[in-house]
Amino acid sequence: MKMQLAEIAHAVGAINDYEQWASVNVTSVAFDSRHLQPGGLFIPLTGEQDGHQFIQSAIDHGAAATLWAQDLAKAPADFPVIQVENSLTALQTLARYYLTKINPRVVAITGSNGKTTTKDMIAALLSTQFNVTKTYANFNNEIGVPMTVLSMEPNTEMLVVEMGMDRPGQLDFLSKLVTPDVAVITMIGEAHIEFFGTRDKIADAKFEITHGLSDDGFFVYDGDEPLLRQRVADLDQQQVTFGRHETDDLYATEVTDTPTSTSFTTNKWPEVRFTVPMIGDYNVNNALAALAVADLYRIRPENAQKALQTVPLTKNRAEWLTGAQGESLLSDVYNSNPTAVREVLHAFGQTPVKGRRLVVLGDMLELGDQSAELHAGLASALDPTKFAHVYLVGPQMKALQAALAAEAPELPVTHFDSADLAGVTAALQETVTADDQILLKGSHGIHLENVLAQLLPTE
Ligand code: ATP
Ligand code: MG
Repeated sequence: MKMQLAEIAHAVGAINDYEQWASVNVTSVAFDSRHLQPGGLFIPLTGEQDGHQFIQSAIDHGAAATLWAQDLAKAPADFPVIQVENSLTALQTLARYYLTKINPRVVAITGSNGKTTTKDMIAALLSTQFNVTKTYANFNNEIGVPMTVLSMEPNTEMLVVEMGMDRPGQLDFLSKLVTPDVAVITMIGEAHIEFFGTRDKIADAKFEITHGLSDDGFFVYDGDEPLLRQRVADLDQQQVTFGRHETDDLYATEVTDTPTSTSFTTNKWPEVRFTVPMIGDYNVNNALAALAVADLYRIRPENAQKALQTVPLTKNRAEWLTGAQGESLLSDVYNSNPTAVREVLHAFGQTPVKGRRLVVLGDMLELGDQSAELHAGLASALDPTKFAHVYLVGPQMKALQAALAAEAPELPVTHFDSADLAGVTAALQETVTADDQILLKGSHGIHLENVLAQLLPTE
């Protein structure tokens, strides 16, 4: 981006006299002084720490100016400062202003799972015919969304934004901030059920992504989810559903998979076979969501086909690696929840293997009252004919251990405390051979990535 300080000051409603710095050029924004690029505007946010204390570091990194939500007397002398009431609000207001100025088409994506994957797929498809800016990594909240907006190059034609949600009202706010032309809900699962209580309430909160949808916009959603179908009756905007049934506008047929990819055909382009370089049937749904959006913008199916095949993978999402013993590791250590575990077990259970399939599952966090029940419920996904040994990590997994003892007593199960990752590693290292496969999946808080790191060959 490129803006003069006067323009920024005007957009955010500066409350100090900034005239002397009016023509200072700003080329980016940063709230972490360590990531500030020369010419950047520093945004001192107040979270666990007060960002204002890092102003000197921001200046050292080449800041051109700073927002300031404190007494001006404490601001650095002779340095361009824009005083505001609240720097987070100012960041959001500035993002809204910049969005209106650049005026791209906006695609917003939420869902219990699959947001980042679908975001990356949508961006890949749209990039075949447009200049696209997408959410960097997982920057999907009240700070990440405005940062994404402000990361747009002036020539951006399409902005693809991921929107996370862990409480009611959050998506209402984010949706109204970016006023999407297309709003996407990938699926409704159980993530964050601790705070919501029911899937119905989760659906209500996800549906808020439609609150800022432009009048002539589109709502693209999982048509096989009754909780969403129920809610669209009152929606004025046009709708597109994707899924696995003929009742969906876009549905997949003939789904097949290999250990590293998944292929499918659609009703809409029956002559085109689509392949995504990812394991897991669920990625077909993510790809369908992306194709539905791409179709709204007339992306040619042959372009879509090529782009899906090479869509960049985000690290630690169902990624195949080779371990130190030559074993295959399916790493999915970044997050976990009941739907995702079932899906990945299903995919893992089908991949051809010479030796054994070993499963390491860490606690699924934030499941609240239903945690024990949801952990125990995974027993039905652990078929003893497919998996040779299950290693469970964390207190919540005790419930699954008990359920497996009752439902599948022939399946060997070992439980570990979450503090004992060394124990998990040692148990695996003791048994694993080059012919085996190991799946690692757990919530990020369990840190199975540390087990993974020990299993990988040292450089
Ligand atoms: P976060 O809330 O952490 O931002 P996300 O919604 O962005 O997550 P992804 O990062 O795309 O989700 O995927 C995370 C994991 O969720 C995947 O590794 C996979 O296990 C599971 N997953 C992805 N897509 C789906 C889907 N459509 N249905 C069920 N599970 C899915
Ligand atoms: Mg994400």
